[in-house]
Parts: sequence; C-alpha cells; structure tokens
Amino acid sequence: MRFEISKVLDAIEGRVCTDPALARAVVDLAEVIRWQDLDGGRPASLLRLGMVLDALARQMEEDSVPVYAIVHRALLSDADLTSNERMVVRRWADDGLVEVLDQPGDRVLEVADLLGLPVLTRVRFDGLTGRLPWLGQAGRLLAPVPGAGGPVFIAHVGGGQAPSTGPRSAAGQQLLTRQWRCPEPGCALFGAGGGGGAFADLARVERSPAGQPPPTLRGGAPACPRHGVRLSDGGPRPRTEVLAVRIGGLVRRRFVVTEDQPVVVGRAPEQAGGIVLGQWLNDEARRWISRGHVRFELRVGEVVVTDTSTNGSGIRPGGSLAEADRVALAPRQSRVLGEGDFVELYPGVQIGRAEELPSAAKFTPASVMAEAPTMAMRLPRV
Ligand SMILES: [Zn+2]
Repeated sequence: MRFEISKVLDAIEGRVCTDPALARAVVDLAEVIRWQDLDGGRPASLLRLGMVLDALARQMEEDSVPVYAIVHRALLSDADLTSNERMVVRRWADDGLVEVLDQPGDRVLEVADLLGLPVLTRVRFDGLTGRLPWLGQAGRLLAPVPGAGGPVFIAHVGGGQAPSTGPRSAAGQQLLTRQWRCPEPGCALFGAGGGGGAFADLARVERSPAGQPPPTLRGGAPACPRHGVRLSDGGPRPRTEVLAVRIGGLVRRRFVVTEDQPVVVGRAPEQAGGIVLGQWLNDEARRWISRGHVRFELRVGEVVVTDTSTNGSGIRPGGSLAEADRVALAPRQSRVLGEGDFVELYPGVQIGRAEELPSAAKFTPASVMAEAPTMAMRLPRV
C-alpha cells in the first residue's frame, strides 16, 4: 500500500509547478491538506491535493492541469502528515516545484494577481475586492467542496463553477519580462539552474530562466519570496510559447518551448525534458510514432517544427481537418507553424499552440489518483 501511495504522490508531483506559463490555479497547500470532509480521512493528507487536481482537470476538460502551490514552512514538519508525505513536499521544495515560505501572508493572492490565475480556497477574502477588484469576478475564487464523484467547485462570488483566468497585472507583466537572481546560494526559485537542496541530484530537468516564478514585491522592488531578499536583474527573460498535446480530441498536457530550450515530443524521447506520449497511444499509434518524433524550437518568436521520425508527420494548416489541406512533413523536414496550424504525428495525435487547440472530445480524464488504494479513495456520502 505504501508503494501505491508513493505512485500517487509521484503523479501529483507532475502537477505542481511554479512556471508562470503552465500553472492554471493557485492553492495554499496547508489549507488543502486539511479539507478532511473531502475524504473523511486523517486530519491532514497530501492525497487531497490530488483530489483537487482531478477536480480542476474535470472542470478545465484537460488532463494534467498543474497548480501553483504555496507551502507554509511549518508543513515540512507537520506531524499530521506521514513521513513519506513530508519527504515528498521537501523534494518539491528543493526542486522549486512549490514555494516554501516562512510567512506566506497573502502570497497566494499576490501570485494570482500577478499571473491572472484563479485561487482554489475556502477563504472568502472579504473586504479585499477594493484592492484586488478581480476577486469579485466569477470563477476567480472557487471553493473545492465534497461532491458526488469527488470535489466540486462552488463560487464565492459571481456564481458558476468554472475557474476563470484574467490578464496578468501590469506588475506581473513587467516582472516576467526579466530573469531574476537570488543572492542566496542554491535558491530553488531564482538560482542558476534549479534546485540546490538535499535532492538536487534528483532534479531531472534544469530550470529554464523562462520558467522562473514571479518575484514578490517588497516596497515596489522584486524580492525572493523564499528568502525575503532583493533580487538582481539577470537580463531579459527568454521568450516562451505554450504548446498543447491533443490526443483523441482531449488535451493531455501542455508544455513550454523557449528560445533556449527546444523540446522533443514522441513515444518516449531520450532527450531531457522530452514529452512522452506513450501512455496515451494505442498499439497502432505506438508502432507509427517514433521515440522522438518531432522537435519544436522557438526562433525569433516563431515556432519551428522539425520532423525527427522514421515515418514523417503532417501539418494541418489553420487547424483544417480536410484531407486535401493536409501538408506532409517528411522526415528531417522543418516548417514554421503558422497561425492556427497544428502538427499531426498520427491521426488524432496533434500538437499546436495551447490557445488554438482546445479539447474537442468528451472528457475522459486520466486521474492522478488512479493508483490510489481504495481506502484513500473512499468518498463521503453527500
Ligand atoms: Zn531565494
């Protein structure tokens, strides 16, 4: 059983990040783990984050929707969590996947404000709408509560259950044009090259400066939320483009291409940071799609796709699914991805810009809790 729980925690790990381009909602982890009514289980459980992640994926009709988690430092030694759970959170902290803070204060609201993200919380933040008007918009403050098939969201204001995003605040836009350096050695958020803690050797992918979290503002100056010190300007932040993988009509995941980091997508790419599609493919698609099938690069703001496969790919210009419009992309051929274009590795296996490639099929989610033992999954009757 312990082994199965570890697998669930690993699955959850794939859905926490501090990357401004990928995070879709903000949570306070100390709050989420204590929502005992979600499963009627022990006082604190990290699996509740998995339940909330699943609810968010259902609402957004996508697999793998990551959240930006703020973690109170006290949680790392919270006796209500298992030692395994505490170790996992420490690993996330060391890898910069979550923000660990001594005094989280209103950092949840600050991140949501800077990035334009919804907040999943049961706190109402009454009286703050004057300072943060977006708190009054529908879908920006949602409370996960017990529902028939897992948590559902209810709105604090404005009605509706659907999380909504807004524009990044002016400060957020400005902060995210630069990369930042924390003077603290081994800073997992603003260091040179990712985590430096006890688990640094386990960090799989070096953090691109393009994926740095938004700094906190102290007296108008950018500071490290973890260490509380002023950050120095490390130059312009590399440009990014968010791409989405749609398989069988459902967006399975998003990923970021930056000017300094090309990304290979395929059945099982060997390159670090490669996007693995294998788990979503049927046997025929697995046979057709190469381990590393296509490579995406960002060159002066344009997305360039290069076929690196044995069998080749196709381009769907402007998103057209008419066979007559399909343009073949032969092995080793490159092409600039025009507006609305997407790449098709195999019928129904498509990659394009995230905002141009919504889910089109009935949602059949791959739960992050799929490996959870039945005991952890017992839901309260509502
Ligand atoms: Zn720092």
